[in-house]
Amino acid sequence: MRMSRLLSTTLRETPAEAEIVSHQLMVRAGLIQKVALGIYTYMPVGWRTLKKIEEIIRQEMDGFGAQELMMPIVHPAELWLESGRWHVYGKELMRMKDRYDRDFLLAPTHEEVITSTIRQCIRSYKQLPLMAYQIQTKFRDERRPRFGVMRSREFVMKDCYSFDRDEAGLDISYEKMAQAYSNVFTRCGLNFRPVAADSGAIGGSGSHEYMALSEVGESGILFCTQCDYAATDEFASVAPVPTGVGEEMLPMEAVHTPNCKSVEELSVLLGVPANRTVKTLCYMADGVPVVVLIRGDRQVNEVKLQHVLDCYELVFATDDEVRAMGMEPGYCGPVGLREDIKIVADNEVPLMVNHECGDGRKDYHLIHVNYQRGDYRIDTVADIALVSKGAACPCCGGTLDFARGIEVGQIFKLHTKYSEKLGARYVDENGQEHDMVMGCYGIGVGRTMAAVIEQHHDAHGIIWPISIAPFEVEVIPVNDRDEWLMAESEKLYKELQKRGCDALIDDRRERPGVKFNDADLLGFPLRVIMGKKCRETGMAEIKIRATGEVLEVALTEVADRVCELRQQMFAALQAPYQWPEE
Ligand code: ATP
Ligand code: MG
Repeated sequence: MRMSRLLSTTLRETPAEAEIVSHQLMVRAGLIQKVALGIYTYMPVGWRTLKKIEEIIRQEMDGFGAQELMMPIVHPAELWLESGRWHVYGKELMRMKDRYDRDFLLAPTHEEVITSTIRQCIRSYKQLPLMAYQIQTKFRDERRPRFGVMRSREFVMKDCYSFDRDEAGLDISYEKMAQAYSNVFTRCGLNFRPVAADSGAIGGSGSHEYMALSEVGESGILFCTQCDYAATDEFASVAPVPTGVGEEMLPMEAVHTPNCKSVEELSVLLGVPANRTVKTLCYMADGVPVVVLIRGDRQVNEVKLQHVLDCYELVFATDDEVRAMGMEPGYCGPVGLREDIKIVADNEVPLMVNHECGDGRKDYHLIHVNYQRGDYRIDTVADIALVSKGAACPCCGGTLDFARGIEVGQIFKLHTKYSEKLGARYVDENGQEHDMVMGCYGIGVGRTMAAVIEQHHDAHGIIWPISIAPFEVEVIPVNDRDEWLMAESEKLYKELQKRGCDALIDDRRERPGVKFNDADLLGFPLRVIMGKKCRETGMAEIKIRATGEVLEVALTEVADRVCELRQQMFAALQAPYQWPEE
């Protein structure tokens, strides 16, 4: 490619709305252009990288036995009514009508369509297992699109789906995809970590998110400093540390605590540490009152709570709603609570001895309360606590640390959630029918590209890993009026292309400074500078973008050295897992 012909403009200024480096650099380097909020065009240079990431994904998907297909972006509402998601997906789902007033949607994901595709062509156990994937545009009307293609409304996703006879089969498919994902992200040059995750709105249980480690990541990760445990902050659990265990249960007593509503105020007034108190929180879950109990020094993780309650809407009860439950706001407690109000407690609460809590009446609290003595009722005990840095690891008891990550991919075990609803069944050896056991596996292709830039850049611009660089090597003749130099540069450029290098020549009539600045901004891994003294000395310079290292090389050897360096760079991005034999 010739720079003079390239449909792209680099910008000196940082666009005001771009909050993070990857977004700024993608706009400044001319990789993307905004069309509307959360909707972008990939310009030719950006598209080249996107296609290279797609190609790596294709190779790994094919290598692990998945087949590529292409499903539609526009789905009929009927399929989503069958799965039940038409009514529950919420505002992220872009709904529309056709000319006959029939309901359609722009697909945010493809479980319904793939399940309906498979139910039409698979009948027998002999046809399973199978995996099918596509790389395609998705649409989600995100509440807060931001960070460019990192969180956009229209975005490119690779989505893969597995179909197995049973759970054991699903475990194998899941493991294959986990390996494929590690290969993809390693080959893209990402510093990433798979972490145990919540399975979210797609459903099912058993999931990992692939996190590119980055300060700007929207996800929190808790990981153990002693063992392999790592989980998202939405999903992480702690080893319960109940307080008071082993003490003799003392008689429960009401104490006068006027104007003392918070855990902190109460700790001071009663001289009771926060970890010996129980907080009572009142929620409305899909309009139904629920009381939640948790140790005073912990926070509720509402994602976990929502799962436990299996509800779509979870909000704090208003003061009036709390009073309607029979309690005074600020003094809530479980003792003597009406039978029709559900009580959910965090794991630690029923184990605590002699704890303090609200009395229910204004200006009173209770001390020496014990669930084990029957002082109050709990309907559901579950892990609903938010885990923070420093907590005990649930696997080994070690200490948990915190990091931020960008979720570039996620894998889920769906089990029979969709096959059951949509009737994707197969017949076994004995003529018995069963629901197929499914998994689903997504990668955000544009988000992966942005995450790579977030991890690989400096003050001057992008530093592409060779595997996904728009171009691998750029030839820069510094003086466009020197015919000999231009001819030699052209010769080298063509030679590099002939040898399989993805080469670009900056043949623009620009000053060297402009060319060098653009080269830094665009960040191609290798640069050959054909300098003014080239003719005299017979030497050129090879500059390595990542290290800034400059090698003086004889013109006759430049192509050899570039190919060698290119090979070394690819070798450093080798995938950790082998493809299974077919
Ligand atoms: P998030 O929690 O970030 O909204 P998600 O968990 O809803 O993402 P999935 O349904 O797991 O997303 O989709 C698979 C992958 O698609 C994600 O891991 C992510 O890389 C990518 N992705 C999801 N939403 C977006 C978006 N709005 N813009 C760009 N990529 C996205
Ligand atoms: Mg996800």
